[in-house]
Amino acid sequence: MIFNLGSINADHIYRLPHLPTPGETLATDSYHRTLGGKGANQSVAAARAGERVCHIGAVGPDGGWMVDLLEEYGVEVGHVARSDVPSGHAMVCVDNAGENAIVIYPGANRALDLSDVTSALGVASAGDWLMMQNETNLQMETARLAEAGGLNLAYSAAPFDADAVRAVLPFVTILILNDVEAGQLEKAMGVIEVPQLLITRGAEGAEWRDTVSGEVILCPAVPVTPVDTTGAGDTFAGYMVASLAQGFAPSAALRRASAAAALQVQEPGTAEAIPTSRETAALLG
Ligand code: ATP
Repeated sequence: MIFNLGSINADHIYRLPHLPTPGETLATDSYHRTLGGKGANQSVAAARAGERVCHIGAVGPDGGWMVDLLEEYGVEVGHVARSDVPSGHAMVCVDNAGENAIVIYPGANRALDLSDVTSALGVASAGDWLMMQNETNLQMETARLAEAGGLNLAYSAAPFDADAVRAVLPFVTILILNDVEAGQLEKAMGVIEVPQLLITRGAEGAEWRDTVSGEVILCPAVPVTPVDTTGAGDTFAGYMVASLAQGFAPSAALRRASAAAALQVQEPGTAEAIPTSRETAALLG
């Protein structure tokens, strides 16, 4: 079982002929709203991989539709709190060249109460997994609870924040980074010691290392023509952790995560593009 302390965002996406310049007002007819947030995406991916996932998070009075969607994707939502603070959202402007400018309002994601976490983890058992990213509050407190309960901790240090990483690192089972974050981590902290380290490198694949035994596995990306890579990292992370929770060996978990992410980047959208376990298995043959 996976518990995921994670953000739930409404992504508002506007296509524009160019990104707004200071002082400019731009109108667009192209608008769509979708479920986003690193936490929500990772929960959907882990649930799609066939693992039980309890999402720990919050939405505001405007967020009921996002909880409904998470539930439709198979995520357990009994511990998604209803906050007085508006839901987190992102305003994503995309120009014709694919360049974007994004404003994020964390809202309810950073207004979680510790009781929301303790009640969710109250039913956790030793050996279960906790996933976390950096888009909510309470990471440190939750990491301590996970350690006390004998849970494994999978931590995506994104968006990168050196202080948050430094605090959480001693509790981590697997640290998950993309190559930009890996560079930021190295610059801020040099070589770090965690039991497992996973670095994803887009079309160049992923690298996993067991820093205790020194074992390194390089997992090539599946060669595909991507349509939209938003959420590829979250798909990989959710599938990887679900597979580890299901007892897959790291090499098999990596292959499965890589296949799921390769399918995800060939479809537009984020959570809605994450493949099911059956679709992923079909690609793996
Ligand atoms: P994002 O921020 O867009 O969600 P990320 O930067 O966190 O993504 P990436 O390292 O870009 O994550 O991608 C994660 C994984 O997804 C890669 O390790 C790879 O397996 C797969 N992937 C990403 N881009 C491609 C691609 N163009 N072709 C095939 N697989 C890809």
